[in-house]
Amino acid sequence: MNIKALVIEEDTNKNSKISIKNIDQEQLPKENVTVNVEYSTLNYKDGLCMSPGGAGLVRSYPHIPGIDMSGTVESSEDDRYKAGDKVILTGWKYGEKHWGGYTQKTNVNADWLVPVPKGLSTKNAMIIGTAGLTSMLSIIALEKLGLRKENGPVLVTGATGGVGSIALIILSNLGYDIAAVTGKKDNHDYLKELGAQTIIDRDDINSIIHKPLESEMWSGCIDSVGGNMLSRILGQIKYGGSLAAVGLAGGAKISTSVIPFLLRSINLIGIDSVMMPYQNRINAWDRIVKDVPMEKLDKITTTASLEQIPELGKDIIKGKIKGRVLVNLMNL
Ligand code: NDP
Repeated sequence: MNIKALVIEEDTNKNSKISIKNIDQEQLPKENVTVNVEYSTLNYKDGLCMSPGGAGLVRSYPHIPGIDMSGTVESSEDDRYKAGDKVILTGWKYGEKHWGGYTQKTNVNADWLVPVPKGLSTKNAMIIGTAGLTSMLSIIALEKLGLRKENGPVLVTGATGGVGSIALIILSNLGYDIAAVTGKKDNHDYLKELGAQTIIDRDDINSIIHKPLESEMWSGCIDSVGGNMLSRILGQIKYGGSLAAVGLAGGAKISTSVIPFLLRSINLIGIDSVMMPYQNRINAWDRIVKDVPMEKLDKITTTASLEQIPELGKDIIKGKIKGRVLVNLMNL
């Protein structure tokens, strides 16, 4: 049977070409569960994987990108899954080291899957996808460190992005006072619709720090940007507050001092969704069902065809994408 998939090929001069190909089922990797993919999405890392050289994330070519997918199990050699089960895959280097979700059919390891929780469709599971799971994991981690809405405003950076948009939706539903940082000056209404009370212009907070401490402003922060912005925000976190470092859209290098940690007892916590253990994922997806008002997902979703994905991959790296981009893999 022929399967349509987005395939990256590299020639001997390391020039890559991305195109839709018909591949044979026999070409799929040998794994113990076969899934008919229904939806995938575009994440920042997909942009990286489709960039020249795969940004060091892609190990070999030809390669099928797509770091997440949802769909229906066609067959399983693993007792945990059977034909007809609805499943989600995020992380585990799917779409990076392993062939990913921009395909009609995929063979995956049962260990990488979670069942679609009751109350969630495969479509909404992917609108949320890796970005939204990461937002939820960040909120759970911050709550464990004492984040409460009574403690004051929470800051979300890279706010119009995938992680940022879903973080806003969840925090707003939980009753938090939220400030959103964005570089997209024409998207303030979008951020307010998702629940931000205050909008901060990126340029106002993206500067190199001159003082280790500024006024205490934020009880918590979900940061997708990293770099100078993260460094500066550490000096604005309220006494005992926490910052979840999620991404590096603005840079990987931070420059800070121990002063905010010593004088304000703040926490800087890293969030990784890729190797997150199974039970934590289940807990996070259960919280997603409970805490994401699904009717708000329409506001952040655009749909794209498989053909459009390579260009959109370039856009996401440039920070040009708003919200989440959904790809329907059925009926190609
Ligand atoms: P998006 O591109 O959707 O969002 C990133 C947002 O960051 C942009 O929309 C933009 O928001 C802002 N931004 C982009 N470039 C810059 C810049 N140069 N300086 C400052 N702000 C910038 O990506 P995702 O939401 O999918 O991912 C965000 C980050 O989180 C990425 O680095 C990604 O790799 C990481 N990530 C990490 C995960 C983990 O497990 N730790 C899982 C998922 C993502 P605006 O225009 O509103 O400012």
